[in-house]
Amino acid sequence: MAELRRHPVFREWVVVFPERVDYLAGRLGPSCLYCPGNEGRRGTGIYTREWASADGHPGGRIEVVAGSPPLFKIEGDLDKHAVGMCDCMQGIGAHEVVIESPAHDDDLESLDDRALSALFDVLRRRWADLAGDERFRHITMSRLDTCDDSGNRVHPVWDIVATPFIPRSIKDELLGAKQYFLHKERCAFCDYIRQEAAAEERVVIDDPHTIAIVPYAARFPFEIWLMPPQHSPDFAAAGEEETLAVARALRSLVGALKRLEQYKGYMVSVHTAPIRRERDDAWQTIDQDYHWYIELRPRLNGVDGMTESAGFHLNPVPSEEAARILKSHLESVRGRL
Ligand SMILES: [Zn+2]
Ligand SMILES: [Zn+2]
Repeated sequence: MAELRRHPVFREWVVVFPERVDYLAGRLGPSCLYCPGNEGRRGTGIYTREWASADGHPGGRIEVVAGSPPLFKIEGDLDKHAVGMCDCMQGIGAHEVVIESPAHDDDLESLDDRALSALFDVLRRRWADLAGDERFRHITMSRLDTCDDSGNRVHPVWDIVATPFIPRSIKDELLGAKQYFLHKERCAFCDYIRQEAAAEERVVIDDPHTIAIVPYAARFPFEIWLMPPQHSPDFAAAGEEETLAVARALRSLVGALKRLEQYKGYMVSVHTAPIRRERDDAWQTIDQDYHWYIELRPRLNGVDGMTESAGFHLNPVPSEEAARILKSHLESVRGRL
């Protein structure tokens, strides 16, 4: 079982997990856990969504299962305690895997609108369900599309992880939004959307329910933020129309990223407000100061920076250039869809 440890200077919870196996290995080849025929080897089933074929569209099925092996255990107490000047607690949390399609080679790009709607509805429902557990403080939802070193594609699934702490990078973002709001009495993201929409040069999609921006200070080449212009801190509270618009933009942008020469995969993560409890007074202004959005960024061959060792991000592609290239690729994606 995982143990969580934190040093008071670095303030970052580290998951110590001696049993950790290679997650990607279980998502590859004929023994792929998420391909048909291997159901018996997966984690416990948690939720299933099926829809029948209609109007010439095929039916589909989304399954949510426990992670294999689960990063955290759902049963037990946190057992928070000090170890000298450091902090420790048990690895209590939840790890669920959302299999958006049983077909190993399917991709977000191949999902029709009904499949996208169902997928985003499942993500929202799982968030709301896990948020009911008093022990959890934050839920991350992410999707990694990648290949192993031999170029074999990993079965793309969403990982939903509920933790009894807010990861430090997310806390930094929340605190930044809160500080901006306390200073200006406005949501930093709403201000940023207005600023970028007016400037236009870093906007790649702009419709009534979604704006997709290559951020001015993008940390990674071709990093994209997909944001609903309507202010809301919570992804799980977003309406169906709004999330479908964001999902459609995500699908188009995945198509555009695949046209990049150095493309080798992509990563999607949902940035949403943490779970709020009545006793928690740290996030009193969060309904006004935070704004949910989706981050999308490609994995590219030969573009690894020296970011970890240097302590800063090094991005070789200026955001304006990235937006220009993505817009030209979006033209061909739209022509094809
Ligand atoms: Zn598979
Ligand atoms: Zn806002």
